[in-house]
Amino acid sequence: MGAVACRVAMNLRNIAIIAHVDHGKTTLVDAMLWQSGTFRQNQDVRERVLDSMDLEREKGITIMAKNASVSYGGIKINIADTPGHVDFGGEVERTLRMVDGVMLLVDAAEGPMPQTRAVLSKALELGLPPVVVINKIDRQDARPAEVLNEIYDLFIDLDATEEQIEFPVIYSVAREGRCRRSPDGDLTDLRPLFETLVEHIPPPSGAPDHPLQVLVTNVAPDDYLGPLAIGRVVDGTVRNRQAVTLCGRDGSRTPAAVAELFIYQGLGRVAVPSAGPGEIVALAGMSGIGLGESIADGEDPQPLPAIDVDEPTLSMEFSINDSPFSGKDGRYVTSRQLRQRLLKEAEHNLAIRVEPADADRFLVYGRGELQLAVLIEQMRREGYEFSVGMPRVLTRTVHGAVHEPYELATIEAAEEYQGVVVGKLGARKGVMVKMANRGSGRIRLEIEIPSRGLIGYRTEFLTDTKGTGTLTHMFIGYRPWAGEIVHRSTGALVADRDGRVTGYAMFNLQERGALFVGPTEPVYGGMLVGESSRNSDMDVNITKEKKLTNMRASVLKGIEKIVPPTRMSLEQAIEFIRQDELIEVTPCNLRLRKRHLDPNERRYHARQTEDSLQTAG
Ligand code: GDP
Repeated sequence: MGAVACRVAMNLRNIAIIAHVDHGKTTLVDAMLWQSGTFRQNQDVRERVLDSMDLEREKGITIMAKNASVSYGGIKINIADTPGHVDFGGEVERTLRMVDGVMLLVDAAEGPMPQTRAVLSKALELGLPPVVVINKIDRQDARPAEVLNEIYDLFIDLDATEEQIEFPVIYSVAREGRCRRSPDGDLTDLRPLFETLVEHIPPPSGAPDHPLQVLVTNVAPDDYLGPLAIGRVVDGTVRNRQAVTLCGRDGSRTPAAVAELFIYQGLGRVAVPSAGPGEIVALAGMSGIGLGESIADGEDPQPLPAIDVDEPTLSMEFSINDSPFSGKDGRYVTSRQLRQRLLKEAEHNLAIRVEPADADRFLVYGRGELQLAVLIEQMRREGYEFSVGMPRVLTRTVHGAVHEPYELATIEAAEEYQGVVVGKLGARKGVMVKMANRGSGRIRLEIEIPSRGLIGYRTEFLTDTKGTGTLTHMFIGYRPWAGEIVHRSTGALVADRDGRVTGYAMFNLQERGALFVGPTEPVYGGMLVGESSRNSDMDVNITKEKKLTNMRASVLKGIEKIVPPTRMSLEQAIEFIRQDELIEVTPCNLRLRKRHLDPNERRYHARQTEDSLQTAG
């Protein structure tokens, strides 16, 4: 692109917000919206702003990048939300490619949180200039000066450039829609923030008369228009009804026409006849375009380099719930309903792929357990009942040898946890490739590890680092199978009949392992009621009643001594189950069970698996 032709869209800015949950991102964007006249102050926009999904809030992550836009003094500012979690690494990267700068929002009392480090690090790596907003300076326990120092330390830790470290700082009370440029002084409306963003974040470059190039960063479903390709006009101008070329990452070139063209305004989109360089657009009629691919001119297509999309590295089997308790609390239980729901997911969530295995079973492919756990959780809230199996990595055969997916795991944690983290990942076939300790008390480790080795590690990691560590990972390719990784060395306590749990039986069984169920809970034969302290499964009668003729006192004494049952979260359950086990997921319950509930069938299948292993060996 020649220097003469390269112009900038002076009336446009694109920024991404990086913030830890609860630091005030929604409140701030809300205030920016009404102060820029996009909304009236009393309009209830709260639940529509940025992070509207409850589930994301609870898990402290944002899964879908969302867009909003405000305008200030004739300049439009597009604001993109960044996923707080780099498990969705490809998505973070794509979102950041849409913008020319970032706004880092930090709570004046809490300071920068480890969870935002990964996204910030990516933004700095891409050379994006940051604006820092220290929010909630009205808090009693606000400590803005210290927090600012922590932010400087963080930037140094993350290898920020000189210019990036010289970021402007805004001090704000988002809740009142007020801010100032210095630590002290009078608060005004948000004008200083708007001005800083406009001054400090460069306008997008590109020329309206260049051949069109749109980078597709997201694809969103729309009931009427079909999938909408969302992305940034990197160069040129896109027009409604225009003939374009869809440029696939495999080199394919498919002609298409823009059926509808939208830009963002406030929290919604508006149809426009055309959009120039830098604009974030949503296009209908781009059927078949994938994330990270580009849309180019109809006659003279000049595709942008495709951005990598995270390949699915693991799969989980979703099947109908065929336990005796099936249909007790779910609204959607049939195979047809499960199929429709999963196919709908695959249609608009391009990071997930679904393949029917047989009439009642589906293989769902995704990028990580967390991603699949989010889907499972969403479905149970919608009223679905189903079972899921153990996650398995997708292997490939290369020159006759089995290869498996590998990840580069990046870990940040306080120094004192280094030993335990390195030890555990070592046992999971991880190899440390880089270690940085800049003396701030935190270390950064880079570890190459089979994807398999990370399955089930996250909860352990959080426990080991007392919740202060961050673990992100990125797919780096297929490598030879690393050998056995011990998943779970313990067996299960399996209920041998249907009935209700008795305190008496619990009391007698609890020395054999940790129990998952409590008194009077209904169980069925083949359900997992505990983790055995031995390495093999054991069938147990957890419904056994003590004859009440005598010894009533001692039974009661026993009940007092019952250890409260272990209740697993969905993530923990996913990490726990083995190949021959399933999780029964319903809106109200999570139960672990054997795939084959009948003990004879179970033994038969176990023998078959053993035989096939021996033959293979
Ligand atoms: P988000 O998770 O980052 O979107 O955070 P929210 O915008 O939902 O804000 C989290 C909480 O912080 C809410 O209860 C807000 O009312 C509160 N909050 C936001 N900004 C301020 C502020 O400037 N001062 C104080 N004291 N509280 C704030």
